[in-house]
Amino acid sequence: MRNVDSIPFNKPYFTGLEMGFIEDSFRRGHTSGNGYYTRMCQQFFEKKLNEDPHQHRALFRSTGIFGTPKCLLTTSCTDALEMCAILSGVKNGDEVIVPSYTFVSTALAFARQGAKIVFADSRLDNPNIDESRLEDLITKRTKVIAIVHYAGVACDMEKIMQIARKYDLVVVEDCAQAIYTSYKGIPLGSIGDLAAFSFHETKNIQCGEGGLLVVNNEKFKKDAEIVWEKGTNRSQFFRGEVNKYGWVGNGSSFLASECTAAFLWGQLQKIDEIQHQRRILWRTYYKAFKYGSDDAILDSHGISIPSLPTYAYNNAHIFYLVCRSIEQRTEIINYLAVRGIHATFHYLSLHHSDFAVKNGWGNSVLPQADRYTDCLLRLPLYNSMTAEDVTSVADAVVSYLKESALGVADLSAAMI
Ligand SMILES: *Cc1c(COP(=O)(O)O)cnc(C)c1O
Repeated sequence: MRNVDSIPFNKPYFTGLEMGFIEDSFRRGHTSGNGYYTRMCQQFFEKKLNEDPHQHRALFRSTGIFGTPKCLLTTSCTDALEMCAILSGVKNGDEVIVPSYTFVSTALAFARQGAKIVFADSRLDNPNIDESRLEDLITKRTKVIAIVHYAGVACDMEKIMQIARKYDLVVVEDCAQAIYTSYKGIPLGSIGDLAAFSFHETKNIQCGEGGLLVVNNEKFKKDAEIVWEKGTNRSQFFRGEVNKYGWVGNGSSFLASECTAAFLWGQLQKIDEIQHQRRILWRTYYKAFKYGSDDAILDSHGISIPSLPTYAYNNAHIFYLVCRSIEQRTEIINYLAVRGIHATFHYLSLHHSDFAVKNGWGNSVLPQADRYTDCLLRLPLYNSMTAEDVTSVADAVVSYLKESALGVADLSAAMI
């Protein structure tokens, strides 16, 4: 194995167009939210999310309550999720189903509205919510199912939407990692009643801190603008629909500034190139582990590589391995760290978190969420990475496995 210089876990990527748009946003003289660049970004996503190349959208639109996606730029995905919680009207005593294996924000947004969080387990084949066990968690008090498309891989949306319609529940898609990806060709974020995207520095497309609310269900569209604009009907006023604006509902200050929107616009110009490069890097990992000269070695050490359901597109947000045990994962992380490669674990099951336990939400037994907590290992993946970097990381993982196997062989020889 060749020695590698430091390969960080992530490096924020810049297209080089950001500064020009930011300067232009200053020249335009409108620096708060809902200006030129905000509208450009929102329209970009409204168009993208409305695409349906395979004409599969009818799978979800039979009820007639969904229109074209309406997008509102926010300061983060967490903010967009908080808007979802306000819009869905959850209150004290209502229950919201959330996967345990996710980022805090998916649950927090609803908990701060007073909801009781009911944690769901992950699937056996990927960390997404196990839809086959969903109905067991539904009670008379359930109002919302918040799902997460982990690593940009779609949840089983047909099953989830069927269950939601049967029990009249709001579906919120946490699309923080799900930009530019789809379920049977339908963009993720356009299927649930509401969805939230992230443009945090760690995501495929970034503007430092930023997010997007998507409203698909017609019944939330008018209120969404009010929640976005601090409880006022200011958006309607600017469109000339009312002659004064005032306090008409619940809300907060969720708008991103024009500077943030201009930064994001600079990224969106190159979204196809960014996605293309990420997919090449992801495939390079996949091929190295699946078809490399030591193709059986991961298997023989109990490590699995990602498997995508046939309905899911791959936006290459994360490349992960699922190790046999937490001890094995820790050894690999340490082995790579010595070689200047920064690999890392991911979420800690939320049902074991201090906050969940304190609230009495920690009683579930969720073996898959715990397995991903202990065993999921994320490898470096960022746009300025080269295919050679990826090969170095993959080689280092394989070297570790060979050396650890030799260690066992040496020990048994010594004992004879
Ligand atoms: C990153 C992330 C968030 C939070 O996004 P912010 O924009 O930082 O608020 C929420 N949910 C998931 C699944 C994430 O990966």
